[in-house]
Amino acid sequence: MTSIVLGVIVAVGLVCLYHGRVYLAWTVPGASLLGAWWWSSEATPPVWHPTTVLFVVLMTVFGVPVVRRVVVSRWVMRLMASVLPRIGDTERIALEAGTVWFDRDLFSGKPDWAKLLAFKPKTLSDTERAFLEGPVEKLCGMLNEWEIVRAGDLPPSVWDFLKEHRFFGMIIPETYGGLGFSAAAHSAVVVKIGSRSVTTAVTVMVPNSLGPAELLLHHGTEQQRQYYLPRLATGQDIPCFALTGPEAGSDAAATQSVGIVCQGSFEGEDVLGMRLTWHKRYITLGPVATVLGLAFRLRDPDNLLGDRDDLGITCALIPATLPGIDIGTRHDPMGIPFQNGPNQGQDVFVPLTFIIGGREGAGQGWRMLMESLAAGRSISLPALAVASAEVATRVTSAYATVREQFDTPIGRFEGIEEPLQRIGSTTYLMNAARTLTAGAVDAGERPAVISAIVKAYLTEAMRRVVNDAMDIRAGAAICRGPRNVLALAYQAVPIGITVEGANILTRSMIIYGQGAIRCHPFVQDEMEAVAAHDLARFDRAFFGHVGHVVTNTTRAGLLGLTDGRLTHSPVRGPVTRLFGQLSRMSAAFAVVSDTTMATLGGTLKRRERISGRLADALAWMYLASAALKQFVDDGQPRRDLAFVQCGCTQALHEIQTALDAVLDNLPSRLTAWVLRRIVFPLGARYRPPRDTLGAAVARGLLEDRDARLALTDDIYIPPPDELGLGRLESALDGAVVALAVETKVRDAVRAGRLERAPGDLLLNRARETGVITEPERQIVLEADALRNEVIQVDAFDPNDGVSVSRQVSRG
Ligand SMILES: Cc1cc2nc3c(=O)[nH]c(=O)nc-3n(C[C@H](O)[C@H](O)[C@H](O)COP(=O)(O)OP(=O)(O)OC[C@H]3O[C@@H](n4cnc5c(N)ncnc54)[C@H](O)[C@@H]3O)c2cc1C
Repeated sequence: MTSIVLGVIVAVGLVCLYHGRVYLAWTVPGASLLGAWWWSSEATPPVWHPTTVLFVVLMTVFGVPVVRRVVVSRWVMRLMASVLPRIGDTERIALEAGTVWFDRDLFSGKPDWAKLLAFKPKTLSDTERAFLEGPVEKLCGMLNEWEIVRAGDLPPSVWDFLKEHRFFGMIIPETYGGLGFSAAAHSAVVVKIGSRSVTTAVTVMVPNSLGPAELLLHHGTEQQRQYYLPRLATGQDIPCFALTGPEAGSDAAATQSVGIVCQGSFEGEDVLGMRLTWHKRYITLGPVATVLGLAFRLRDPDNLLGDRDDLGITCALIPATLPGIDIGTRHDPMGIPFQNGPNQGQDVFVPLTFIIGGREGAGQGWRMLMESLAAGRSISLPALAVASAEVATRVTSAYATVREQFDTPIGRFEGIEEPLQRIGSTTYLMNAARTLTAGAVDAGERPAVISAIVKAYLTEAMRRVVNDAMDIRAGAAICRGPRNVLALAYQAVPIGITVEGANILTRSMIIYGQGAIRCHPFVQDEMEAVAAHDLARFDRAFFGHVGHVVTNTTRAGLLGLTDGRLTHSPVRGPVTRLFGQLSRMSAAFAVVSDTTMATLGGTLKRRERISGRLADALAWMYLASAALKQFVDDGQPRRDLAFVQCGCTQALHEIQTALDAVLDNLPSRLTAWVLRRIVFPLGARYRPPRDTLGAAVARGLLEDRDARLALTDDIYIPPPDELGLGRLESALDGAVVALAVETKVRDAVRAGRLERAPGDLLLNRARETGVITEPERQIVLEADALRNEVIQVDAFDPNDGVSVSRQVSRG
């Protein structure tokens, strides 16, 4: 028992030291000490009691910094130096790039909800709104994805429209001729276009994401900006960015594309330049690019720039028409015909001034890429994912209402409610995370970890939502044609999963790997102190870390026992408890994460299953936090309550599952056993959303017009007579109007006033017997006609297949 008391004393002492209240470190353990003496049966006077002696020794060792550094920290630092994974230059640059934001709160174990709720994401300006309602709406009207797919490219009129309205210059400031849009506007534009045509969305996304414009804005010389940015903004130059090659996919820094510094002739002048040889593939817009952003390794074997042979990854802008360049062949990315293809160059000579940032930019390419990655990754693919999810939500909710089987709209079946529930709640979480992250970018953040989270988890969420939507639409989702707006979104899913960092890699290595170092309050400091052999700094960081662990362990235990009830919730209302439960999971995450790092040390880098699960926990915490913020920011509308509750309940379950699985797989079983008692003292009790909550989500989609529209109001809605979503929407409107009349007829049958009969016959009898009026009969007939129309699928002349335009719709 004495050892327990001692443990408590040391723990309290460390916590107090951590908070800088040294006086408490003496007084509180002092009080505990008196208690220990009183409790001790020997009743030895405190001054001579062995506990006292041990206490004084411990407090001297741990409480006096000079002693502590020599006796403890020096050894711990040595130990850490031996177990820390080796971090190469490219890895270090990647780790250090970008900023940390609310992810740091989630990592700390004590998220500051008040701060999150006080954060006001930038709203769209009048100009941005006008652009969405003007050129973007008009562009969407011009797009027909089915025809684009069959033609294999955007029509020339669309290319011209995109250039004329400067769609390729959304991130380029107005001073350089661009639109100078906020991240929120950029994201909104991609969602709307993406809801209409993935091909067009990708075409617009790429020049506005990581590529020549973004790199020039942050790293180019003024001369380069003045020349290129106006040309890129107006589409006079079409850019691509070529990083990936056959040998260098996820491991992009392994590129074998090279530049050799040498003297050469360019446009008749003898200049210092580089001879470039490269082989790239998968390059979006590559086949039509006029300027290639090229990443390659720059070598200087003759030491013309200095004494280093290998200068490192370098980025340059290369006009596509130079001799030696081969572009133009195309890949076929899942049949979605945005321009994408390989390109290569053999001994292409360009001056050093073509390097982004000029001669100073030589060897700085990797840093440039890593620093610029977060902004684009925060916007493009999350927006595309939300576009597909919103379309899936809109389509399935309408279809589940108008499609009847067994005399019942299929949405009434519990089996269909289940995927509808996932679609509705996931789409809510996705959109909340999209807008929050764009808001962070607008606030000047380049959130490295969060951008990886939204890229990977929103595209994964899109995959689940689109899959569910396919199952609900069933045969009508499978037969391709202009009526089927889901099939192309389904086809495009793997593209989002793979580009800008393939999801498996992003989940299992990047998110937690970077988060553990960047978001943790002490780890980066510790690592830097170890690298710099700075004992004083290490001592501060390490004991701060120990105190942090002790605080979080206590917090996780207490919050685990009370299911988060001890925390202060920033709002009153139906989501109050969810804030507390998320705080609880954040504390649990912090403890599990610290213990995992401590027990696995450097091997954690290779234990990707574990780091992947920790990434899951972090990502779901972020999605749920975003959803709660969205709900509170919107004034806690009743219409959205089921979505947010269902989404957050699912998120809590996912976080718990992830942490539970980490504990299941920790090599130290004793540590895992103890940890489980702390973070799940009453067991892992979060369950997936209950059926009643799921049913409320499904009803929200099927019956609450406001809820359905609010959840999907970022997408383009085609005219009512257009095949596909347009007609589906009109059929839904018709079905809603007819519902009251149909209910009258059904009630009459139930009451025995009307004899049961199939379809029109029943309707005619209802009219004849005065159950309904003639105008009411017409309403039902019109609704039925619309319904019959939208359950049809496309069929084609077998001699022509689907590749020619003589299409016969047998609907
Ligand atoms: C349609 C399309 C458009 C693209 N556009 C461009 C572009 O414009 N510019 C450009 O430069 N590139 C572009 N890319 C390339 C894209 O970024 C790469 O495809 C991506 O980085 C993955 O590389 P890879 O396909 O070679 O897969 P690989 O690197 O071979 O990876 C294969 C699998 O292994 C996983 N993996 C790899 N390393 C690890 C690890 N350490 N831990 C766990 N899992 C790992 C990956 O997640 C993946 O699942 C595009 C790709 C496609 C398909």
